[in-house]
Amino acid sequence: MGKILVTRSSMPPKEEYFNEISSIWDTRWLTNSGVKHQELEENLRKYFKVSNVSLCVNGHLALETILEVFNLSGEVITTPFTFVSTTNSIIRKGLTPVFCDINDRDWTIDADKIEPLITEKTSAIMPVHVYGNLCDDEKIRKLADKYGLKVIYDGAHAFGVEKNGVSSAALGDATMFSFHATKVFHTIEGGAAVFKDESNYDKFSKCKSFGSISPDELGFAGGNAKMNEFSAAMGLCNLRHIEDSINSRKAAAERYREQLQNVKEIQLNAVQEGVKSNYAYFPVVFNKEIFGHNRDEVMAELAKNDIGARKYFYPLTSTVKDLAGTKVNDTPIAKYVSDNVLCLPLYEDLSNADVDRICGIIKSMK
Ligand SMILES: *Cc1c(COP(=O)(O)O)cnc(C)c1O
Repeated sequence: MGKILVTRSSMPPKEEYFNEISSIWDTRWLTNSGVKHQELEENLRKYFKVSNVSLCVNGHLALETILEVFNLSGEVITTPFTFVSTTNSIIRKGLTPVFCDINDRDWTIDADKIEPLITEKTSAIMPVHVYGNLCDDEKIRKLADKYGLKVIYDGAHAFGVEKNGVSSAALGDATMFSFHATKVFHTIEGGAAVFKDESNYDKFSKCKSFGSISPDELGFAGGNAKMNEFSAAMGLCNLRHIEDSINSRKAAAERYREQLQNVKEIQLNAVQEGVKSNYAYFPVVFNKEIFGHNRDEVMAELAKNDIGARKYFYPLTSTVKDLAGTKVNDTPIAKYVSDNVLCLPLYEDLSNADVDRICGIIKSMK
């Protein structure tokens, strides 16, 4: 039996990509908002059903550049149950992350615990959609309006996710997407920022290209975070296959759920009502006192069988060294989930037989 990795990048048919990039040899236009870049922005606008999508070299720099666009200061309320990029973007822009706990159902930020954390220094909320589930945008929006705060979503896990027909990209003042090779939709490395207001889209698009206004006039001190044409071409191909890709993930995720939902000793992530997920990950919480083994033991048992799994998100991002010595809020639910969660293999071409084998090993450990 072959090795099963925790993830495997989706790839378009080879010929399709070769065909897509071949015109680049004629134009010799490799980057700086080329034809592929423009076309991918346009196609993503249609896909998300939003007006302002700006591509970026990766998701992390999209987050940092969004923070630059809003010119924020002070404190940003966020979650420690995320990939370290979220927290690092806040720290690297000179802001202070204030950690709010997550809820114990879908593990997104607990919107009922945000208000007590708001101070006169708070300038924004940066919630994270996790594993294909969405944050409680309605409650977050109300708080943001009440206190005049920006809402910036880390949507790295939420590409293609919709709630009652509304795209995750349409939430907040801005949303970041990561198009890293391991994500549901990718451009090898890449990302995007989606803005509610066109003026912020314009500023972001300048910010990712040195802030320049024209060949003869400099603007503000922007950086460089542009997506190149080969990445944009990969995105154009992958976007054509996204529905099939998500449906394949859905089939694998549902097969896991069928086999594991009756194992009462483990906890699965909640399925949100009205939400069309993208089945980005399949996380399972193993509590030693209930299941008899902790997640490290489950991970080791899977590894013995040549099956990869990932402790994700672990550790909590509130443990990043820059915050050592500062007061960091206790977030007991986030700590519990982070200490006990394991993401099982999930990717587009994961076979039913592989899902069955993985579930068989877990069940045999009970
Ligand atoms: C992947 C990811 C990022 C970073 O995106 P990159 O494209 O790798 O820079 C940020 N936040 C979350 C939640 C992610 O999963």
